[in-house]
Amino acid sequence: MTVHQQTPLIPKCSLCKKVMEISEGDILYGTEWYHKSCWDAVEKEQSQRSIPDADLIPIANYA
Ligand SMILES: [Zn+2]
Repeated sequence: MTVHQQTPLIPKCSLCKKVMEISEGDILYGTEWYHKSCWDAVEKEQSQRSIPDADLIPIANYA
């Protein structure tokens, strides 16, 4: 019997590339994770683009 080891999916912040420890306030945007502080920076850069609310999941509302 073959045992398949599942590779744990460790989310990394899409901005700073550090491993995420998911906590309240962190952001899942589509399939990309951001620290809260990193997201703030991304949001400023992308302020000219509108981000659909449906794609943005604040962890505070997710848990
Ligand atoms: Zn980060």
